[in-house]
Amino acid sequence: MRLDTIVKGGTVVTPGGTFVGDVGITGEKITALGAALDTAGAKIVDAAGHYVIPGVLDVHVHLELPFCGTVSADDYRTGTRAGARGGVTTVIDFAIPYAGDSLNDAADNWMKKAEGKSLIDYTFHICITRWNEHKDQIEGMVERGFTTFKEFMIYESEGWQSDDRALYGTLEKMKEYGTMLLVHAESARVLDELIARHHTPELMKKYGARLHPMTRPNFVEAEAIQRAVQWCEATGGKLYIVHMSTGEGADIIRAAQARGVPVVAETCAQYLVLDDSVFEREDGHLFACCPQLKKPKDVERLWEGLQGGEVSVISTDTCTFTREQKAMWEGDWTKIPMGMPGLETLLPLTYTRGVLGGRLSIEEMCMKLSTNPARIMGLAPTKGSIAIGSDADLAIIHPTHTHSIDPASMETNADWSPYEGWELAGFSRTTLSRGEVIVDNYRVVGAEGRGRWLAREPWGNRADRDQETGNGERGTASSKQRAAPVASSPFPAPFGVA
Ligand SMILES: [Zn+2]
Repeated sequence: MRLDTIVKGGTVVTPGGTFVGDVGITGEKITALGAALDTAGAKIVDAAGHYVIPGVLDVHVHLELPFCGTVSADDYRTGTRAGARGGVTTVIDFAIPYAGDSLNDAADNWMKKAEGKSLIDYTFHICITRWNEHKDQIEGMVERGFTTFKEFMIYESEGWQSDDRALYGTLEKMKEYGTMLLVHAESARVLDELIARHHTPELMKKYGARLHPMTRPNFVEAEAIQRAVQWCEATGGKLYIVHMSTGEGADIIRAAQARGVPVVAETCAQYLVLDDSVFEREDGHLFACCPQLKKPKDVERLWEGLQGGEVSVISTDTCTFTREQKAMWEGDWTKIPMGMPGLETLLPLTYTRGVLGGRLSIEEMCMKLSTNPARIMGLAPTKGSIAIGSDADLAIIHPTHTHSIDPASMETNADWSPYEGWELAGFSRTTLSRGEVIVDNYRVVGAEGRGRWLAREPWGNRADRDQETGNGERGTASSKQRAAPVASSPFPAPFGVA
């Protein structure tokens, strides 16, 4: 086969092992792997002295999100440029229905945000915010190519909150359709009570932004994860805990997976490299995100969870706000727009603190940033690994070359960084998306709007699911017509061990 491009002489990380050699690309796909491919007629991308790793999937981002009385400051243009510079080649955002929106309306709205702007490929998790209205729209979204859904156990004031009835009912539907529910797990009633008790002028004057971590003790997350896992176990519907930040959460997931409960968990880079001591800083309010940063022992436990397997994915929960937006708090922590920039630093942080820090091998890092997220989100084998037939989504990183974090020289719209002044290796020297170089010599060169929406299929074939559920005749006409996309479970087997 004629090769259009050869990524030459790098240390190539594949699911089958790491080797020094070449990656051959024809059109948008990887078509050859070998020690020394025939270069006749091919464009050469020199990767000598570098790692060649699969493009990163950041499966938890919020671009141009109306939230906390403002709109997050990275849109599909700046957010995906930032991602590409950090080796990210796929993002999954959350389409949230507002006011009287249907699930279809939400997807349409997010399509409009991305189309013509996104540099890299994308899709959305569909948020179910009003169970009674939305429950009968889920199947239609699956047919439209959306196979992951999201519910929030908090955010009543935003109009997003789901109760136990909604969680239970959605998980039943996930079981039926072979799809997955993502849950933001925090215990709303107790959290609201703790916030109300502390929301006094005296305490705000005394503690400032420190009230953010003070009002969210670890049990707020742990209780909610435990409850969501209970509904997962009862229904058999697949569950994914987003942005897990506590050691207690990791313990619960580990125990549930040992019982065979179909639950997996993600953490975010910020929970692996920062702790709540940042709130002592003068500008500590900038670090408010939800859930908030936790204690050093949680940081340690989450790294252990990555090593042990109960934490399957590292994402970012990117939700960028500028200093000016963060200043809206005026001393009241409940008014801080919650979120941080993250897309540009996901790979550098994980590589520097994980691989160079001796906590993960390069192969384990690729599993948590690319292979697992692709499998779990229904994007494998197209995305997530360097393999024949997969999309030629690649990041080429130098093993030790560092960049100092300076928001002025970054692609994100943030005018601050949680990591300002940190020296990080792992920025992408060259990023390829479907065979096209979109970052060259650490600078974005790809065209805005070239990214594509990725349709997804439910997991497993219908017969497998029917066997599991005993509902042999219940498949709809449309779902019966679907080809079986992935025969095996997308969950790492046993759960999360990969
Ligand atoms: Zn989020």
